[in-house]
Amino acid sequence: VISQTMKTQDIQAIKLLLATPKKIAIIPHKGPDGDAMGSTLGLYHFLLKNNHEPTVIAPNEFPDFLAWLPGSETVKIFEKERENSVKILEEADLIFTLDFNALHRVGGGMEEVLAEMKAPFIMIDHHQKPDDYAAYTYSDTSFGSTCEMLYNFISFLGKKEDIDKTIGTCIYTGILTDSGSFRFPGTTGNTHRVVAELIDLGVENTKIPTLLFENSSYSRLQLLGRALQNLKVLSDHQTAYTTLTQEELDTFDYIKGDTEGIVNYGLSIKGIVFTAIFIENKDEKIIKISFRSQGDFDVNQFARDHFQGGGHRNAAGGKSEVSMEETIRKFEDLVTNLML
Ligand code: 5GP
Ligand code: MN
Repeated sequence: VISQTMKTQDIQAIKLLLATPKKIAIIPHKGPDGDAMGSTLGLYHFLLKNNHEPTVIAPNEFPDFLAWLPGSETVKIFEKERENSVKILEEADLIFTLDFNALHRVGGGMEEVLAEMKAPFIMIDHHQKPDDYAAYTYSDTSFGSTCEMLYNFISFLGKKEDIDKTIGTCIYTGILTDSGSFRFPGTTGNTHRVVAELIDLGVENTKIPTLLFENSSYSRLQLLGRALQNLKVLSDHQTAYTTLTQEELDTFDYIKGDTEGIVNYGLSIKGIVFTAIFIENKDEKIIKISFRSQGDFDVNQFARDHFQGGGHRNAAGGKSEVSMEETIRKFEDLVTNLML
């Protein structure tokens, strides 16, 4: 049984909108991950199958380890193809935003463009405190992934039979990546039931993890080694954190996606319940931060309160606009004086 946290009248309205062919833009968040790309491409294939004209427009590049996803070659990158992307957005009858809860999550430049659009927005997302920009909002923080919500969304429309191997492959990818391979809270019996159905459709559940996680370079492993060497443990505060400077990223020929998942290693130390990684981005003049926790400590709130970010209780992100040294000092102060 699927819990329906989407308003019946909204489902009816969307059914009506999708009853005739439409031009549809589909937007993931900036720095798209497996769930963002899986959900947008899963929706893309579903809409294509229903005679619409969908286009996925990502704010910036997606990581190489997602480039095998079916349809990824059709994705427009706003940062690189601004003019064409704006045109597609302006011509869209409908705009889906997936896996994020506030327009600023697409980043400056694209945010302002989206804010001007007159077409109705449909949000599907599992982050806390969704903003109110969408005409139709399917938001539910109890889900481990937007991809699992997309499975429900298609079911709500009475189109579950449309879910095939291609759509299923996209959905499986987001469920797998956002659940930490079925380990994080939010992974439910229903998650596994959905996955079981996808496997029955032919989704290659043992091949996809290889494509995602065993597909990186030697230099990426060396970068991981550096991050592990840099790991600092504040054992009195059950906290561990690590850093990667721009210089270190350059040394190990960093490409987008190379730092994905590194933050989690801190939690593998016995007794550590809070971990963070600080990654310098010289281009954007920020330190990008990922936070993870185990148990009750709410990193979403921590990221909101102190580092201009947000996310979920056990996985969140944020940023800092001061130097790495100052950022670390602030973080250590917070950890040692305020918490835990
Ligand atoms: P990650 O650390 O893997 O980049 O992100 C973990 C979670 O936090 C994801 O759900 C992601 O969408 C969210 N997140 C990451 N960075 C930010 C941020 O700067 N602002 C907000 N609001 N959420 C973020
Ligand atoms: Mn997600």
